[in-house]
Amino acid sequence: MSGGELLIEGRALLGEDFEEAPVRLVVEAGTIAHIEDLGGPGDDLPWIVPAFFNAHTHVGDSVALDIPLEGDLDALVRPPDGLKHRILRSVSRTDLVRAMRLTIRTMENGGTAGFADFREGGRDGVSALLEAGNGISCRPVIFGREGGETVAQGLGISSARDFAGGLDEVVSLARRSGKLVAFHAGERDPSDIEQALAYEPDLLVHCTHASRDHLRQIADAGIPVAVCPRANWRFRVTSSAMRPPVRELLSLGCPLLLGTDNAMCVQPDMWREMEFLSTVYRVSPREALRAATLGASLFMEPFYIREKNRAAFLVIDPRPSNLSLSRDIAAALVNRAGPANIVRKVINL
Ligand SMILES: [Zn+2]
Repeated sequence: MSGGELLIEGRALLGEDFEEAPVRLVVEAGTIAHIEDLGGPGDDLPWIVPAFFNAHTHVGDSVALDIPLEGDLDALVRPPDGLKHRILRSVSRTDLVRAMRLTIRTMENGGTAGFADFREGGRDGVSALLEAGNGISCRPVIFGREGGETVAQGLGISSARDFAGGLDEVVSLARRSGKLVAFHAGERDPSDIEQALAYEPDLLVHCTHASRDHLRQIADAGIPVAVCPRANWRFRVTSSAMRPPVRELLSLGCPLLLGTDNAMCVQPDMWREMEFLSTVYRVSPREALRAATLGASLFMEPFYIREKNRAAFLVIDPRPSNLSLSRDIAAALVNRAGPANIVRKVINL
């Protein structure tokens, strides 16, 4: 669909600060052309909120959904022979594409309009993901590896420790081609963080076991950190609200992003991830919403509701449920709402 004008009224969370206002959004050719203030409290209006950006996924894991999590992190997901990599090697391309497509559709249905995926399997792996996402409005930013980076937006390193040598060359080649560079770092211990930092990455994933000194370096360099709390708990690399150090990251001013990581054991559902972040890590609803949307501004295009931005927002109808009783839209979104409350998605028109 393209062209045409769309008028949508509601109590919107506007801009990066999610400022609440009753408005009429005029969407022209997929862009928010005007935002008109309706005045009044707007209590009886639907809610208009930015779509989500899932800052870290492995949708390829869809071929290993809910396998028993026996063994430690390395046994399950470390390349090249972790359990999931053996499963990925054993399935046909057709089955892989079909599985990834179902997961991307599920993300789309949940209001996620973009995701940053670490895609295994080199160039073929990247092309399989592009095929899987074809025609779906939830779009990937792909971090490939083993050559996949040459046909993707970025390079996604599983861990600096997985390279006996040659990492310098892989990273500098990616940099020379203008690719983004991202690292998993500090997922099970701090030992691979320093090395990742030395490459001044565009994105760090996890930092579950980052020290105070690491966090200061990350903050000084302004590197965004995608935390994946539910995956960390599932893989038993944390059992504490101190790890990942979400509160410290926020207090140091690090750009905090939220991801769902391995689809094999965590549903890529940003509602659930936000609620977990808010409940376990005591992050305010607005901070949780920001972590669930900010990645789009960094890696795609901003999903914030602002004039001239591309439309990437959700219309939530609180009226048939007790959401309508809430005194705080952000709190209701983070702690109560879910895909079933979405009545319309205005994404990627
Ligand atoms: Zn990951």
